Amino acid sequence: MENIGAIIEEYRRTTDDEIMSERNGIGPREPIKDNIELKDIFRPERMFFSRFEDDGSYVASFRMGHFNIPDIISGSAAGVSYIGGLNLGRALISEGLAGDIHSLAELMLDQKLGILDIVSEWEDDGYLRMDVRVYECIECAGLPNIGRPICFFEAGIIAGALSEILGCDVDAYERRCWTNGYSFCQFDVRARV
Ligand SMILES: [Zn+2]
Repeated sequence: MENIGAIIEEYRRTTDDEIMSERNGIGPREPIKDNIELKDIFRPERMFFSRFEDDGSYVASFRMGHFNIPDIISGSAAGVSYIGGLNLGRALISEGLAGDIHSLAELMLDQKLGILDIVSEWEDDGYLRMDVRVYECIECAGLPNIGRPICFFEAGIIAGALSEILGCDVDAYERRCWTNGYSFCQFDVRARV
């Protein structure tokens, strides 16, 4: 897709800056609220995707769907949401909607889920580790800082898809999110290769 490389470069700079200025695992965005309110979901901040008509209502509709599991926003349904994402991520690959990391990133763009960026990968004690970032995430972009991440569904999608692509167990932990004070999502990914 046009310009996406340049947009990713720009986001990497911004996100590296935010990581540099974090304190105790909380990013620089203020103020910190107790909870996400319904009205918060209507103002996504998606610079790239906002070029598509009605992106704001598209995102809000997606987020409204998640209110069908009442505790999901507060995080107590994290495991359920993660497993749902795992199943979806695995199916995306096993049913042929994507075949590798590149086509997974294209699919996420086409579906407007977010801009997937594998920033780095390295070997560590028998694991393949990855710094995976998602910009303009459909789940959280523009949401307030509530002091904890919420993208368990997306973490599951990434882990599930990568486990099918790599043919091994993969887990993904969201360390940074709009909802703990950043303007991106960052996942620590670990694959038992
Ligand atoms: Zn997030």
